[in-house]
Amino acid sequence: MTSLFSKILIANRGEIACRVIRTARRMGIRTVAVYSDADVRALHVESADEAVHIGPSPVAESYLRADRIIAAARETGAEAIHPGYGFLSENPEFVERVEAAGLVFIGPSAASIRAMGLKDAAKRLMEKAGVPVVPGYHGEEQDGNLLAASADTIGYPVLIKARAGGGGKGMRRVDRAEDFAEALASARREAKAAFGDDRVLVEKYVEKPRHIEVQVFGDRHGNAVHLFERDCSAQRRHQKVIEEAPAPGMTAEMRRAMTDAAVRAALAIDYAGAGTIEFIVDASEGLRPDRFWFMEMNTRLQVEHPVTEMVTGQDLVEWQIRVAAGERLPLRQDEIRLDGHAFEARLYAEDAAKGFLPATGTLHRLSFPAAGTDLRIETGVREGDTISPYYDPMIAKIVTWGNDRKEALDRLVAALRETWVAGSIVNTAFLAALARDPDFAAGDVDTGLIGRKQAVLSAVPPAPAEAVGLAALAVAGLPVSSSSDPWAQLTGYAHFGRLAKQVSLGEDGAMKVLVAPETDGGWSVDVEERNIRFSPQRLEKGLATVVRWPGHVTVFTGAIPYTFAVRDPLAAAADAEAAAGSLRAPMPGLVKLVRVGVGASVRKGEALLILEAMKMEHTVAAPHDGVIADIAAEGVQVDGDAVLVRFAEETGGQ
Ligand code: ADP
Repeated sequence: MTSLFSKILIANRGEIACRVIRTARRMGIRTVAVYSDADVRALHVESADEAVHIGPSPVAESYLRADRIIAAARETGAEAIHPGYGFLSENPEFVERVEAAGLVFIGPSAASIRAMGLKDAAKRLMEKAGVPVVPGYHGEEQDGNLLAASADTIGYPVLIKARAGGGGKGMRRVDRAEDFAEALASARREAKAAFGDDRVLVEKYVEKPRHIEVQVFGDRHGNAVHLFERDCSAQRRHQKVIEEAPAPGMTAEMRRAMTDAAVRAALAIDYAGAGTIEFIVDASEGLRPDRFWFMEMNTRLQVEHPVTEMVTGQDLVEWQIRVAAGERLPLRQDEIRLDGHAFEARLYAEDAAKGFLPATGTLHRLSFPAAGTDLRIETGVREGDTISPYYDPMIAKIVTWGNDRKEALDRLVAALRETWVAGSIVNTAFLAALARDPDFAAGDVDTGLIGRKQAVLSAVPPAPAEAVGLAALAVAGLPVSSSSDPWAQLTGYAHFGRLAKQVSLGEDGAMKVLVAPETDGGWSVDVEERNIRFSPQRLEKGLATVVRWPGHVTVFTGAIPYTFAVRDPLAAAADAEAAAGSLRAPMPGLVKLVRVGVGASVRKGEALLILEAMKMEHTVAAPHDGVIADIAAEGVQVDGDAVLVRFAEETGGQ
């Protein structure tokens, strides 16, 4: 029996840092987080036992600084470093430096990473180990004519791939010989810019391809096992969107062939730790054991590892830590069982309708359904946090389990319905549309599915009149939320006056909504051609949750949240106040969450606190850079106009 580490450092941020910390804590191992300027108050910093600042916000100056990370480990007495995924996780020089510093890298050896680091060398190695690889050219020669000739031999369509590639960069599909030269030039340019290496390989473009990968694990005693497969065919622009385990339609024969090949691949490079062998599968005639080929190996923990954990009941981070400490694999192959089905959906701050353009913003509202054995929420942010432009805009992974695929998928749809985000553009509706897509639901997936249906999946349905009416009532200052809270009762709102109001919604204020009082105490709302009545009884019952955030209002009523642009008088008032060095409560309310302390220096736009009033949440953000001199306490009820935040006097020139 080896002894485990007493303290580890996590060289990462966000959800994966939080995920690793959780397992370490359960194992009685102390944790050290590292963080950049942008992450001073991040969840992973708060979750760890200790935290070390490693530099400015850009990753090149912080999360990629091997020297600072290793120094942080030594200063804090950490014995091992977990790299998470991305950043330094597949960098063999980093592994060597960690080991040279007398620390343990929780992952494979530098040699294993190198063996799989370049797609061409990896393919040559796999061919030798008897693992099927996609027919193609993966030699050293890079002459354009030779590559074009090999494309002719392979037969069109072909795929040009950067040998140093990742994230779909430097990859081009070519359908005709006459387009080859131009596609090659552009793939090379992109590869050079992204990886500093413009060498490429050419391979057969697989039609109706499915991406099926096998989770493998090795230890330092020569053992290797697999933990079944995951299907990651639901992709947009070669990026995974919803993953699942097991693969739909998988047969015993196909599984045996794929998992055998994956274990052979791991053994061929003396692999220790968690790894994934990615295969591309020609599914044009169903799953057939002679129609899958090695694509690449990821020598780290994958983003989508939770689906494997859900169907095997194993904690892969625990396995990683045990293997790194020198222990044998916790289970033998015949002890690893597959039970039920699991999905993972990646919740992103991005605009699906605009080609998945990444978004930023402050998460004025962020709430998830309660997690349990059938539902895991993996996140590195909390309400009030900011999605910054510096890092990947993933907000959370929503992971569900069911006895079968249908049950797991139904749970995913239900979980997405209860996932409420306001403050940024998010892909919740897109994920829900994909999860409900008839082909996806039938398990008829391939990597082109999303591309073919993109317009339908990312269409933003017009808001129903009811949602527009609720938004207008909220903007007019009326309580519309379901709550037993006295604030949600109309009687408290006499001071709003019972006059008709016109509310303008939408970017250009084009949607005009007339809100007028009725004699029975209810409200009549005219939305375009329709009239909707909100009786006092309905209002008292509560109709929805409405979140006001700077310049917007979001209505959560059912399946899809609706966000409207509003010209926000509250924000304008806050700006004016800010000029005077303080921020006041725009209305009576409860200070729900305070994000910063006295003395903190804050940046313009940073969330300072959340005020809950009329069951709506108003984020009070810093109107300019400054130092907090005074701030309201969490949990306190404040009057309208009460000072919430005071800034220190400008000291000038700092
Ligand atoms: P990267 O390392 O850039 O992510 P991969 O080699 O892992 O590149 O491929 C990414 C995705 O591109 C795959 O999941 C698959 O959808 C698609 N792809 C890769 N190779 C082929 C191929 N030969 N034919 C068709 N599609 C492919």
